[in-house]
Order: sequence, then C-alpha cells, then structure tokens
Amino acid sequence: MTGALASVEVLGCRLDCVDIDEATARILAFAHGDRPAQVVTLGTEMVVAAQRDARFRATLAASALNVCDTVGVLAAARRRGARISARVTGVELLEHLCAAAAKEALPIYLLGGAPSVAIEAAQRLAERFPGLRVAGAADGYFPVDRSAAVAEAIARSGARLLFVGLGSPRQELWLADHLAASGAGAGIGVGGAFDAIVGRVPRAPERWQRLNLEWLYRLLREPHRWRRQLALPQFLALVLIDEVRASLGGRRRP
Ligand code: UDP
Repeated sequence: MTGALASVEVLGCRLDCVDIDEATARILAFAHGDRPAQVVTLGTEMVVAAQRDARFRATLAASALNVCDTVGVLAAARRRGARISARVTGVELLEHLCAAAAKEALPIYLLGGAPSVAIEAAQRLAERFPGLRVAGAADGYFPVDRSAAVAEAIARSGARLLFVGLGSPRQELWLADHLAASGAGAGIGVGGAFDAIVGRVPRAPERWQRLNLEWLYRLLREPHRWRRQLALPQFLALVLIDEVRASLGGRRRP
C-alpha cells in the first residue's frame, strides 16, 4: 500500500478509489502515524448535503480518505471512470479494522449510538476478534458543550482508532473539530454501524445487497427514513444535470 490515491469528483466531492483492503491498510497506517487522519464513508445524502453546506463541503475536502458507502455514489463514480470494485461501508470497515487492530494491538474507541449500544457493540466485537483492545465506548447523545470533555476522555483512553457513529453530518463535523484533541491516529465516521453490530438494525440479506437494494430494505424496515431517502432522486438529478452541462462544454462544478 503505497503511492498517491486515485480519486474522482462526484458533484464536487472527492471520492478516493479504494476497495476494502486498501482502505483498511491506509487507515491502519494512519492509526500508527502521528498526524490525525479523518476518514469519511461518503454516501448519497452526504453529497447532496454538501451542495448547500459549505462547512460540510470543506470537511469532506479536508478529509484524509473518502470511501464509497452507497450504490448511488458508486454508480456516479464509475460514470466518471473510477475503478472501484464495490462499496466500502461503515460496518465493513469497522469489522475489517477490528480484525487487524486485534492482531496489531491497536486500541479502539466506539463513540455513538443510543445509550448502551456502543458498549454492547464493543463487547460483541471483542468476542468476535480475540485480542481486540477496546479502550472505551460511549453513547452519542451528549450535548454539544460536552464535546471537548468527550474528546479528552478518548485521549485518556489511549485509543488509536476512533469509530464515530453520530449520523451524518454530525459525525464528520465532530471529527473535524475534535479528532486532534482525541489523540487517535484515525477517526472514521461509521453512521449506524454499531446498531448493525448489535443487531438493532439488521443489514439487508446478502441477496438484497448483491442487487444493490440495501436502501430499499432499509426503507421498508424503517419507513420514517423516506424523507432522508429523497436525497437519492435529488442526487440522480444533480448528476444528470452535471453530465449534460459537461457534455455541452460547460465547466464542471468546482
Ligand atoms: N446518533 C447518535 N447521536 C445523535 C444522533 C444519532 O449517536 O445525536 C446515532 C444513532 O443512534 C445511530 C447513528 O447515529 O446509531 C446514525 O445512524 P443512521 O442510520 O442515521 O446513519 P447512517 O448510517 O444512515 O448515516
């Protein structure tokens, strides 16, 4: 794992062309390093949100690694010539990194989810990956003015890999502000991954995942998400407009 990363722009958001193995290797290198590195699991809703939120857009641009979390982003990136074999989801990253962290004695910290979910997820991961050092776990329902104290607690724990599941954009903005103070080498936004680990929100069956229908499965299980999923048609419309503009010789979005 060396050299510069290939990347493409999807509606002005940088996407790094990595598969799960390369993403894991790069994040492990961050965790061993001394410059805190933020990792974003880039999803369709996030790209749409970035169109109207300059601070969020800047956070995505400054992140050390942006992996492809959703089928929408994957399809748009492939149309831009990206060579990405598959999505790299927050749950998969969490599992791959825990497997590697257990071997390399890298302490991890889980921050996010409803009370007790992070602790339960940590227990499950420790059972699955013998030798895993869980430096700490805390829920994600703390007031904004406790953020510095939360980051200090992470720093005291000695964690090198910090998984943050506060939902987007809160987790990305939280990491941008507090990763350095947390002392971790890598901070990864993982959305609802802890819920998936404890089985609170089951992942779609593999067949649905293979057919790229995980979004539909989630919509059927959690119908209240419909409003959030409106981002998908918006995303498709924006990608098409962007492509038409480009084919007419217009400048792509910066
Ligand atoms: N969450 C949190 N604090 C908050 C809001 C949300 O810890 O203030 C957690 C929530 O419990 C869930 C995760 O953030 O575990 C967000 O999950 P969601 O499925 O919305 O994220 P996605 O993977 O879709 O980005």
